[in-house]
Amino acid sequence: MTDRNCAPQPAAAPKVSFVSLGCPKALVDSERIITRLRAEGYELAPEHRGADVVVVNTCGFLDSAQAESLAAIGEALNQNGKVIVTGCMGAEPEKITKAHPGVLAVTGPQQYESVIEAVHRAAAPRHDPFFDLVPPTGIKLTPRHYAYLKISEGCNNRCTFCIIPKLRGSLVSRPAADVLREAERLVAAGVKELLVISQDTSAYGSDLRYAASQWKGREARARFFDLAAALGELGAWIRLHYVYPYPHVDAVVELMAQGKILPYLDIPFQHAADDVLRRMKRPAAQERTLQRIARWRELCPELTIRSTFIVGFPGETEAELQFLLDWLDAAELDRVGCFRYEPVEGAAANEIAPPVPAEVKEQRWQRLMRHQQAISARRLKRKIGTRQQVIVDELRPRHDAMPTPVSGAFSAKGRTRGDAPEIDGAVYMTSRRPLRAGEIASVKIERSDAYDLFGTVVGY
Ligand code: SF4
Repeated sequence: MTDRNCAPQPAAAPKVSFVSLGCPKALVDSERIITRLRAEGYELAPEHRGADVVVVNTCGFLDSAQAESLAAIGEALNQNGKVIVTGCMGAEPEKITKAHPGVLAVTGPQQYESVIEAVHRAAAPRHDPFFDLVPPTGIKLTPRHYAYLKISEGCNNRCTFCIIPKLRGSLVSRPAADVLREAERLVAAGVKELLVISQDTSAYGSDLRYAASQWKGREARARFFDLAAALGELGAWIRLHYVYPYPHVDAVVELMAQGKILPYLDIPFQHAADDVLRRMKRPAAQERTLQRIARWRELCPELTIRSTFIVGFPGETEAELQFLLDWLDAAELDRVGCFRYEPVEGAAANEIAPPVPAEVKEQRWQRLMRHQQAISARRLKRKIGTRQQVIVDELRPRHDAMPTPVSGAFSAKGRTRGDAPEIDGAVYMTSRRPLRAGEIASVKIERSDAYDLFGTVVGY
């Protein structure tokens, strides 16, 4: 008879505490690192104290993001002491080691192997061939029903305010078959919405000369349109982020009109005044964007356009800001985010023209936000009385904080096909039966405000 107490006990799994900072692209890097660590038998620790090592995936895009990254490293050192740093800030290791000489290792963005090696050195992996802790999708840090799909790394543009190409290098696209296989696996595991991300989605595949790879016994070309069309066959919501207004986007808008992918374009215009765009060295700055937007809306009236802008760019005049506000009136974009220019160290823009004083930047930011709020409210109002497909993100307690209670026993928060998670508005809905996260319901819109919609589920 075997004495169970004498049976060899497996060694305790080493524990890693993970901090993920920055944009969705950094989040995808974190998911890859965590997936690999879990596959090797590491456990994720809920807090720094008690973990064998801490990994901090940093963001280095703006000075404020760098400060946040340095603070997170300091906190990890205080609470644990064994800290590995990776991500965008890792491209400038001396900044990190100067502030925190006690870190164990610093690795740059996408240097997955180096991070894993550093973790091995800090806490050796438990060797157990029977370990299989990793679901086929890898580990996701987003909710189960949506996932980010990164199609390339780096960027070939050289916008003067941006140091991403310096940090992450030139464009490197993934072969189409790789992207499609990952997308298929995610959908098979229950993901209902894929958010396609990169630094410049419309440039996808140009570095590969649009080479084809084999997917499901046929050729899949590494081309923006072909990839969007193939993703559209998977039966999930496909949402495109970081697209630039090049002429070839028209064909993709036609896919949207045919219902193959979501009628949604996230295009970071950044400004509208020609001279500012020239100083920014924006790709496609010369395009006649208002005409292009009108054409897209003609092709696909349901299209939602989201964008981001920078105010207070060096040398920006009052007239240029006014031009941007007038342009926003004409463009009638649905969703707009706005940043005050921050002089990122190493960005060419800092030398281009005199800086705009901080208080002027602030006033311009306030003006733009107020201006756009009215446009957004107007556009959302048009949805009252319509039925919208809404994906449920989270359930809310019965009769809870619906800003205006409407009849129905259950409440939930979700998004229309025109709203991306985290950055766009929400739909607050009531339903006569409980909803599940990830479920897509048909909602009659009854009310709107500047950013959100309110309604009742009329179909499941
Ligand atoms: S397109 Fe411009 S802003 Fe975007 S990553 Fe490339 S260089 Fe930076």
